[in-house]
Amino acid sequence: MQVPETTRYCRWCNEVLRGRSDKKFCDINCRNSFHNQLGQAAFQLVKTINFALKKNRNILADLYQLAAHNAVLPKEVLTYRGFQFQYHTEVLGLNKPEPVFLCYDYGYQLLPNEQVRISPASKDSFSSWYSAGGAGWGIGI
Ligand SMILES: [Zn+2]
Repeated sequence: MQVPETTRYCRWCNEVLRGRSDKKFCDINCRNSFHNQLGQAAFQLVKTINFALKKNRNILADLYQLAAHNAVLPKEVLTYRGFQFQYHTEVLGLNKPEPVFLCYDYGYQLLPNEQVRISPASKDSFSSWYSAGGAGWGIGI
């Protein structure tokens, strides 16, 4: 009498597997399909984050124009437009109380009282944000 072994299924097509006990797929086709799908999932994640970054950048550019360059706005305006604060391309002034987060060519700074300041990223655009009295901010620096 044979001890029944646990039935195993192909990880791709769910067919019952026969043969070696370490087999995970019916054949090479199922194995390739499975691994291609994993690659696609990683690719999808990259696409999703790239999309979020570009959307963030466009929200910053748009609000900067709308605010006629006097771009200090409530944080919720950005959130309402779908801004995702966890995605940025660079952080400047990490040692400062209020670092500047870049999304490509636009930057923003989180200010007290749930305010956000926006500027295009040019060579000097953020230096005044850190200096006391610069542009009237310099909070706690
Ligand atoms: Zn299969």
